[in-house]
Amino acid sequence: MSVICGNRRRHSDGEPVAHASVAAVRACFLAEEVWACDWLTMHVHPDDGEQYALECGGLAWALPDGRGYTCEHGHDHIHAEVRAREGWDYAADPQEAGLLAGRGIQPVAMNGGGIDIDVAAMRYAASLPG
Ligand SMILES: [Zn+2]
Ligand SMILES: [Zn+2]
Repeated sequence: MSVICGNRRRHSDGEPVAHASVAAVRACFLAEEVWACDWLTMHVHPDDGEQYALECGGLAWALPDGRGYTCEHGHDHIHAEVRAREGWDYAADPQEAGLLAGRGIQPVAMNGGGIDIDVAAMRYAASLPG
């Protein structure tokens, strides 16, 4: 999905710019500050099948409640102190998720969704003192 954005103040070169969602267009107009999302996303080169990482570059803005920021392609980042207060944290893989779960912390995938938990890692973390 793409939505044409008519915010001349942000897009001063006059070319029509499309954002990925209505929320992004709204943020483009209303957010005090927007920036290019720097999440690395993996791509596959069509010629040789090589993987390479590119910065997302999508429109990013702060969440209105001060919890963190998000981008038009759904790259949410919630601040560490908010995660700690709410009892969850990001995990990159099932092993990291298990280590968090073993310490009583709810693991969340980097995209904000659910993630599998490595049971051995969970038991290990739970067995550690403190
Ligand atoms: Zn815009
Ligand atoms: Zn992004």
